[in-house]
Amino acid sequence: MPMIREVTVLGAGQMGSGIAQTFAQHGYMVGLYDIESAAVTRGLAGIEESLSRFVRKGSLSEEDKSQILQRIHPSTDLNIATRSQLVIEAVPEKIALKTAILKQLDDRCSQNTIFATNTSSISITAIASATRRPEQVIGMHFMNPVPIMPLVEIIRGLATSVDTFEQIQFVTQQLGKTGVEVQDAPGFVSNRILMPMINEAIYTVYEGVAAPEAVDQVMKLGMHHPMGPLTLADFIGLDTCLAIMETLHQGFGDSKYRPCPLLRKYVSAGWLGRKTGRGFFEYDE
Ligand code: NAD
Repeated sequence: MPMIREVTVLGAGQMGSGIAQTFAQHGYMVGLYDIESAAVTRGLAGIEESLSRFVRKGSLSEEDKSQILQRIHPSTDLNIATRSQLVIEAVPEKIALKTAILKQLDDRCSQNTIFATNTSSISITAIASATRRPEQVIGMHFMNPVPIMPLVEIIRGLATSVDTFEQIQFVTQQLGKTGVEVQDAPGFVSNRILMPMINEAIYTVYEGVAAPEAVDQVMKLGMHHPMGPLTLADFIGLDTCLAIMETLHQGFGDSKYRPCPLLRKYVSAGWLGRKTGRGFFEYDE
């Protein structure tokens, strides 16, 4: 298998842009694709702002920053992915969107290209089976914010080859991150544990047990969490939280994973958290 030097990230939202930034910071050439040109522009602006923060902290020079930015090639043309040895999809948490875009790329990319998915909860095996290369499909689950968080959950689908797994483990190390191997199950490890806690925090608000500020204070001051669960939910995106709960609920068929009606209501209202300026809390641009 060829060495991975060029990577294309599909979806320039908060995760896709963070993934693109991280690869570029570690010397990879990166294509950053989104279906919407406004999203690509927003994604790039976010990357620039994040790199500037590193410069202000003294961990990056202005020269490094400009070189990193030069390694990122924004595009709204999916063909940008054809020159990559690794494609990472970070489109919204809907299986139909993920399989549709990977199916389109199946014909266009080299047979050796690895397709990684940053899904938070969806079956890697199911995503892989939509392609003609299930051996080269793998879960590479980054945490938010990607440039800061050290973990990558690496998830094998049923058919994922040893070679694909080893290449992704190597790339993860090259990014300075720690890969933890996890088997394919709804929510993997991270969101199987985290998301029911967030959902329960939303239930406490829904049932009037406490206000959102109070719920977050209890978990911060009492449990030493760096961020309260509702602030974290707003940060992740409430649409993503709902999608993950739906996957857990459907995947395990257990009512303990039913999404809180208040979470559904907020998503229906378009209150998706930080990215739309309002969720459980309000945010200035
Ligand atoms: P987001 O809403 O910030 O970004 C999604 C991007 O995908 C948007 O820019 C949108 O324009 C683009 N998009 C939509 N349809 C597309 C298509 N067909 N082709 C190309 N681009 C398309 O979402 P996000 O938070 O970045 O989440 C992306 C993925 O990462 C999801 O699968 C999510 O579950 C996963 N994830 C999220 C987090 C988190 O904390 N938010 C953490 C780990 C993994």
